[in-house]
Amino acid sequence: MTKLYLAIPCYNEEEVLHDSAEKLLVKYTELMNSGKITEDSKIVFIDDGSKDRTWEIIKELHEKNPVYQGIKLSRNRGHQNALLCGLMTLKDKADAVISIDADLQDDINAFDAMIEKYEAGCDVVYGVRSKRETDTFFKRFTAEAFYKILNKMGAKVIFNHADFRLMTKRALDAFSQYKETNIFLRGMVPLVGYKSDVVTYERFERLAGESKYPLKKMLALAWEGITSLSIQPIRMITWLGAIIFFISLIMIIYSLISHFTGSAVSGWASTLCSIWALGGLQLLAIGIIGEYIGKIYLETKRRPRFIVEEFLED
Ligand code: UDP
Ligand code: MG
Repeated sequence: MTKLYLAIPCYNEEEVLHDSAEKLLVKYTELMNSGKITEDSKIVFIDDGSKDRTWEIIKELHEKNPVYQGIKLSRNRGHQNALLCGLMTLKDKADAVISIDADLQDDINAFDAMIEKYEAGCDVVYGVRSKRETDTFFKRFTAEAFYKILNKMGAKVIFNHADFRLMTKRALDAFSQYKETNIFLRGMVPLVGYKSDVVTYERFERLAGESKYPLKKMLALAWEGITSLSIQPIRMITWLGAIIFFISLIMIIYSLISHFTGSAVSGWASTLCSIWALGGLQLLAIGIIGEYIGKIYLETKRRPRFIVEEFLED
């Protein structure tokens, strides 16, 4: 039996909280009765500095039924930080923690499959959306493009997986060694390694209230994802510099030919060559400096250099 904790970040969720809590309790009772999770498993809400009645509701729930617990952040720190707080606070209390949004857009009936995979020895189980029919065309297009771009940039994210996942205590312990402050959880969890699997589910529409992720926050998250997982953009500058410098060599030859065949105005060749060559050299130099900055950046993260999975000793 698994001691399962749920980590649920909430920001201004008074409209959905009662409903979500009720649905989760039904699911939990079912899982407890069928002996899949222990009686002391918990449903934990993390209030991310909400300005509405969210925290009052969490307190009421906790008083009514101790299966509900609450963590209150001192102020709004954003979804990723709230979730991280939940995971790190709960990691020593549970066998496994599932993270899920308060609006229950992710299917709570996927819990069963996640627990099965956990029992089969997986340390991380990713919830992956089977289709995106409930999304607008715009959201689907931008979201899928984002996953593709990230993968091209060398950050290995799981396609169509957001933050609905199960992690074991062992995976969370390993994850806690990632001390960086700029966090993009779905891109960092795969760095931990260990045996993992996916569970596919259909995502629903939000129960009530509105999305706390407007386009602006989505773009900010995407940018955070790219810049905290990859130094590829810097490398692109280096390449651009090299390419422009190469073009400048062709331009030098071209302008020399023009000069000697007499078809160029005097002064043109030297001006043109210096513009191209200097532009290319400057970009190249910025790129090289950038490479070092990229290295400094990676060093400052102080990420663990290895995580031992097993040690056959004695
Ligand atoms: N959330 C949070 N802090 C924030 C914004 C959002 O904890 O600053 C929580 C929110 O309460 C929800 C989850 O993050 O549980 C995902 O937000 P939402 O459902 O609005 O995003 P969407 O599903 O529209 O992408
Ligand atoms: Mg949502």
